[in-house]
Amino acid sequence: MEEKLRLSEKLAVVGELAAGVAHEIRNPLTSLKGFTQMFKDHPNIPGREEYLNIMLEEIESINLITNEFMVLAKPHLTMTMRIDLLPLIRQVTLLLTGQASLNNTQIETQFYIDSGTVKGEENQLKKVFVNVIKNAIEAMPHGGKVTITVTGIQNENLLIQIKDEGVGISEVHLKQLFHPFFTTKENGKGLGLMVSQKILDNHMGHLRFTSTLGEGTLAEITLPAESVTELPSPTAS
Ligand code: ADP
Ligand code: MG
Repeated sequence: MEEKLRLSEKLAVVGELAAGVAHEIRNPLTSLKGFTQMFKDHPNIPGREEYLNIMLEEIESINLITNEFMVLAKPHLTMTMRIDLLPLIRQVTLLLTGQASLNNTQIETQFYIDSGTVKGEENQLKKVFVNVIKNAIEAMPHGGKVTITVTGIQNENLLIQIKDEGVGISEVHLKQLFHPFFTTKENGKGLGLMVSQKILDNHMGHLRFTSTLGEGTLAEITLPAESVTELPSPTAS
């Protein structure tokens, strides 16, 4: 009985996923089909350049969505690379500085270790930090501060905390954060956290959220540490 339930739950998730993917891909495909037909019927139609640019954008959005789902299809990682998380996180915050300043948001980092390495795939872990920090910035439409702290736990785990002063997440939404296509944003895709969770899963890591509506959200990422170098006292930047 229990097995059966689990299977039907799984199938429901697969169905939800398939419907979402199909929907996301069908829209750009419909528009590409329309443009192709139009070019066939009117080979010398004026404004070609503009139409071709739209077509390229549509192709890019299909590309994006298939890339996101490739992560789900990847069963095992070749966990050969040693990655120091501190430079990686610095790089990501730098990358997001532009978006942050547009949103009137500051990003502050506090590293309580000198270095902390994990084994895994750098680009994938980078994606996780981009997704989570971006969400923190987007949660503060009227500005505020994102605080990122990195701590070593007994030389065994690395704890990365990303705290914002944003809109917060309701109890009901907290349960849906990792569902594919769950979004509360007008232009959101609702894939960032699903993909991040899968990547962390592949790295034997975890992602959890605690939040208070109207006050802000704390995202906590833990990853098994390969090595940790302690600091005598915290550095801030
Ligand atoms: P997207 O950002 O495209 O909406 P995500 O998977 O990244 O997709 O996030 C899903 C949803 O989770 C968001 O739409 C938002 O409602 C909620 N969320 C995630 N992070 C935060 C945060 N820091 N503060 C408030 N809500 C958040
Ligand atoms: Mg997001």
